[in-house]
Amino acid sequence: MIQDNKIVDIAIIGAGPGGMASAIEAKQAGIENIVVIDKAPHHNDMIHKFYKKGKRVDKDWMGIKFEFTGNVTFDECSKEEYIAQMDTKLQNAAVLDHFEYNHEIVRVEKGEDGLFSIVFATDGIPETFESMKARNVILSVGRMGKPNKPRYKFPKELKKVLNFNLSKVQDGEHVMVVGGGDTAGEYAYGLVEMEGMEDCVVTLNYRKAEITRMNPINTEMCNKYLDNGKMINKMGVDVESVEEGTERAIKVNFTDGSTGEYDRAVYALGGTTPKDILVNSGVQTGEWDVPIFNENTFETNVEGLYTIGDVVTDQGSIALAFNHAGDAVKDIASKLK
Ligand SMILES: Cc1cc2nc3c(=O)[nH]c(=O)nc-3n(C[C@H](O)[C@H](O)[C@H](O)COP(=O)(O)OP(=O)(O)OC[C@H]3O[C@@H](n4cnc5c(N)ncnc54)[C@H](O)[C@@H]3O)c2cc1C
Repeated sequence: MIQDNKIVDIAIIGAGPGGMASAIEAKQAGIENIVVIDKAPHHNDMIHKFYKKGKRVDKDWMGIKFEFTGNVTFDECSKEEYIAQMDTKLQNAAVLDHFEYNHEIVRVEKGEDGLFSIVFATDGIPETFESMKARNVILSVGRMGKPNKPRYKFPKELKKVLNFNLSKVQDGEHVMVVGGGDTAGEYAYGLVEMEGMEDCVVTLNYRKAEITRMNPINTEMCNKYLDNGKMINKMGVDVESVEEGTERAIKVNFTDGSTGEYDRAVYALGGTTPKDILVNSGVQTGEWDVPIFNENTFETNVEGLYTIGDVVTDQGSIALAFNHAGDAVKDIASKLK
């Protein structure tokens, strides 16, 4: 629990790869007086929610090669092993006592004393941690709090079957996966291969006729199942609209005039920068609502407020978030001396 009248050196918002690596980097830099706040009940929640069971966690995600530049690294493994590795790293660094879960932060406010107050919301009602202020803040809240939606409307009655990850899929369902990146590919062929989902019928829909944005492994896996018919190819055409179906829950109207009926659609279209928390905290944003920040230190226009990980890049990865954490903490440590 957050102690009374505490001033922490760093308040880290978000306990995904960027936030947890910041906590470990802080510890290694001799900064013990920190708090890590996440809205979820555990660290790495996005990975818990959006990675499919058994997913391989790649170091070079989206085909981009990364080298670790900080103190936090990971060995490529499955989703479950990755979470276990991170738990061990956090335990070894003895930082887990500083993690405060189940608080959704809406903004941070820099006072005249130069310290940040941290505002969270319960059922939409904002409240400030009265007993705690922070000298520095690292915002690492990712993008998947708000997954990208397509242009067309989601009818209210279909919302339960229009999803952004595989968690609700039941065996035997006809599922349309929408998207052309690695996540869409992994969802689609992942579902074809998933134990206990043998009777699912998987369709991949992507507006382009060819897979162009996936890494070589995912491209090969998808093409293999598209070629042998285990995955239905609905590529090269976009979705115009969705409505209630007659045989299955959803009727999809495609731009070429064709239609299809599915039990569920899963959208893997990436996520949007969390503009509100940035703007409400005084951070200047530029094109695509990406914050303006120092590329070496990740400090924003608000002195002492840093933003790292997926928030600052649309091609984010775990390794990149780890590296950002190292750079931001290095800068904070040099100023705290
Ligand atoms: C399906 C999928 C598969 C992927 N596979 C790979 C892969 O194999 N290898 C790889 O390197 N990358 C992969 N990525 C990308 C990688 O997961 C991200 O780049 C990485 O998780 C970014 O870390 P982050 O800390 O910036 O954000 P996140 O992991 O999104 O963490 C943000 C954290 O902030 C918390 N949070 C959000 N808003 C608030 C708030 N207002 N208040 C409090 N807490 C908040 C969230 O609960 C979450 O814990 C994948 C992404 C997806 C979606």
